Amino acid sequence: MGQMMRCAVWYGQDDLRLEQRPVPRVGPGEVLVKVAFCGICGTDLHALAGKPMTKGFVPGHILGHEYSGVVTAIGAGVTTMSQGQHVVGSDGMPCGKCIQCRNGAMRYCVQPVRTKEGAWAEYIAVPEGCVYPLPEGISLELGAMAEPVANAINTIQSSPIDLQDTVLIVGAGTIGLLLVQLAKQRGAGMVIVSEPNTMKRTLAKELGASVTVDPVQEDLLDVVAQITGGVGVDVAIEAVGLPQTVQQCIAAARRGGTVMIHGWAEPHVEVPLRPHEMIAKLLTIQGIIGRCWDKALKMLGDLQVRLLITRHFPLEEIHQAVEFMRAGQGVKVLIAP
Ligand SMILES: [Zn+2]
Ligand SMILES: [Zn+2]
Repeated sequence: MGQMMRCAVWYGQDDLRLEQRPVPRVGPGEVLVKVAFCGICGTDLHALAGKPMTKGFVPGHILGHEYSGVVTAIGAGVTTMSQGQHVVGSDGMPCGKCIQCRNGAMRYCVQPVRTKEGAWAEYIAVPEGCVYPLPEGISLELGAMAEPVANAINTIQSSPIDLQDTVLIVGAGTIGLLLVQLAKQRGAGMVIVSEPNTMKRTLAKELGASVTVDPVQEDLLDVVAQITGGVGVDVAIEAVGLPQTVQQCIAAARRGGTVMIHGWAEPHVEVPLRPHEMIAKLLTIQGIIGRCWDKALKMLGDLQVRLLITRHFPLEEIHQAVEFMRAGQGVKVLIAP
């Protein structure tokens, strides 16, 4: 057996085990990345709560998909990467072969290629198309934030936010706090943020939110009505993944407004819709997912990203890190394997 590595493996609800596994071999077209940092994402917490959001989560799976690291080996046929290259990565890429990809609609690929394992590990082997070179001058720590930044950019770029629009962002986790900054850059006038966690509300203010609302203490819809003179917001972005918050966004949007659903909800979750309201309000409801990597790498240095990194934990303390996140003490926690 070759060299061994430490990794954190998911087996089900509250069952995350630190294990030793062989360092993966790089296959053709793959690169081996020595992981520097990997974030804990809300979807990882869902998996640990026994509610995995995606099909890839089979027991025995190494979690972690927001990583940065250094290429230490390249497989046969790799042309875009070399050893020593600093990279950031994700857990998938368009297949290039399905009908959507063949028609040039790669973002709607119906069978994206997934990395075999995640990056809560010392090493991860991935297809070269899953990683992107980190620009010089950007640290590996900041690089681990590229994935959420790429996500938030994709959402704002796909939104109809126009100059001086009033935008509601529900949820001020990492994504919500990035959306606040990007919505302002896109030209939004008033940005309203709804978030029950005091620390996150304070950060939202610091990062450009015009108004923050504690939805436990205040009626969000009353606040929206007050601010917009009863009209509603131009664009409401849901960044939580709960039925109530989707409903809040629908109710808060103005006539002709847009609701964007970014927060992953559990697959079985349903939200009651009133078609009458959809029609009467001429609402656009848009599900959104995707990543603008190149723009994220260009913007990483300009956005206030470091403020969102609350703490690092070594891989050995992954359980403490998860508890820290569950207690709502962190915005983004990075694992340093
Ligand atoms: Zn994520
Ligand atoms: Zn495809």
